[in-house]
Amino acid sequence: DSTFNLTHHIRSIPDWPKKGVIFRDISSLLEDRLVFRKTIDLFVHRYFTTRIDAVVGIDARGFIIGAPLAYELNAGFIPVRKKGKLPGTTISESYSLEYGEAEVEIQTDWLKRGDRVILIDDLIATGGTMLAAASLLQQLGVEIVEAAAIIDLPDLGGSRKLKEAGITVHAFCE
Ligand code: 5GP
Repeated sequence: DSTFNLTHHIRSIPDWPKKGVIFRDISSLLEDRLVFRKTIDLFVHRYFTTRIDAVVGIDARGFIIGAPLAYELNAGFIPVRKKGKLPGTTISESYSLEYGEAEVEIQTDWLKRGDRVILIDDLIATGGTMLAAASLLQQLGVEIVEAAAIIDLPDLGGSRKLKEAGITVHAFCE
């Protein structure tokens, strides 16, 4: 309904995980049964009439949104995980954080060239995580219909970077 405003249900935690950072906490959105349902429904309604072969969720909060979305879209669910968690044949992509590096990984067995997927995470900040995940999908020849998150932090430039890389991006709030 038009009175539902997601931003009202996201907690902001100052100085976490370190001083000067305001962490946008979606726990307050997940724990409320009605708000959780409405949030998932926003995603479902956005993609319901589109052919989607799989939802790709990013470790770990992308799983919480991605799995119920995949179920509702009658699509498969494929995890992108932090390096070292997935058995079998995988490809991985590293990206830089403010201090140091991180690496995400996907199994190569499931997605086929030309498959249409939605890439999901809870939040886009610098875009490093989403870009690395998108790169994995591009290496597999998969079509990213949209990279979507609950929240975008536009000041950090991630969604702009994704768009510049030719990826369609959507977030339900800023
Ligand atoms: P990025 O790679 O875009 O800089 O950071 C996004 C990733 O870090 C996402 O996987 C997201 O879950 C996590 N993240 C960074 N900042 C926040 C935040 O303030 N709130 C939440 N919920 N996740 C964050």
